[in-house]
Amino acid sequence: MVTKELIKDVTVNILRRAEATLPSDVKDVLVRAYECETSEIAKVQLKAMLENVKLADEMQRPLCQDTGIPLFYVTLGSGNANPHVIESGIREGVKKATKTIPLRPNVVNAITREGGAGKEANIGDRMPYINYKIADINGLEILAFPKGGGSENVSAFTMLSPKPEKEAVKEINNFVLDAVLRAAGKPCPPTIIGVGIGGSADMAMSLAKAALLRLVGVRHKDARISRIEEELLEAVNNTGIGPMGLGGKTTALDVHIETADTHITSLPVAINFQCWAARKASAKIYLSGEVEYL
Ligand code: SF4
Repeated sequence: MVTKELIKDVTVNILRRAEATLPSDVKDVLVRAYECETSEIAKVQLKAMLENVKLADEMQRPLCQDTGIPLFYVTLGSGNANPHVIESGIREGVKKATKTIPLRPNVVNAITREGGAGKEANIGDRMPYINYKIADINGLEILAFPKGGGSENVSAFTMLSPKPEKEAVKEINNFVLDAVLRAAGKPCPPTIIGVGIGGSADMAMSLAKAALLRLVGVRHKDARISRIEEELLEAVNNTGIGPMGLGGKTTALDVHIETADTHITSLPVAINFQCWAARKASAKIYLSGEVEYL
């Protein structure tokens, strides 16, 4: 049976794994970047990241002092647990994880800046933030996606005017490249760049964030979009910003685009950056209460 206590325990476990163990797709591409870099300073930065990744995993300690804000993606199957049980279980899990992992108390009131260390750590108004989707699965899946402030703070959004495909792609590419140049070293590169195109303004930003969840190296299934991803990745890496903004060939590990159909008068484009500490971990909880860590 899926109880609040079970959701709480799973939340603590996936947060711990996300914070301490970098997913292998990201680790592998960091290793490849280290092998390919020719700049001495870029090699030093990438080596330090890889040593950091190894130590965090061995010691089960957070990869970075900024342990992020608590974002979750929950996939609900049929005959599911009560949503209230899921929400309160995740909330309790974040509270416990903050004390036991521990996590930095990052969540504060947006206006007064109260919260943080003084209050129930990492719990607040609409925090943790939980995205839901429905799928044909047995039970539910929870994905923890703690997101660092440095990369989040350089997010970008624009409403372009609709135009023929070739011109639209050129404007989108320019917007992404401008955002990368303005962000420079702030998002702790090498980054994964999520681009959301279409839908409404809020949908575009959600798509940009969801794009970060795709495995590094996996291209969009539409060949036209996949080509734009490849062109953008090459252009971003030609900027020379490099690891931590100190110069080099590796400014981004990948560019992922997600799209949605949009209004006839609109062309929303959103960008969400993910720093090199691309933390995420998930688990599947069957209705029987059995848990599979993915
Ligand atoms: S952007 Fe990422 S690597 Fe940089 S400080 Fe924040 S969590 Fe750490």
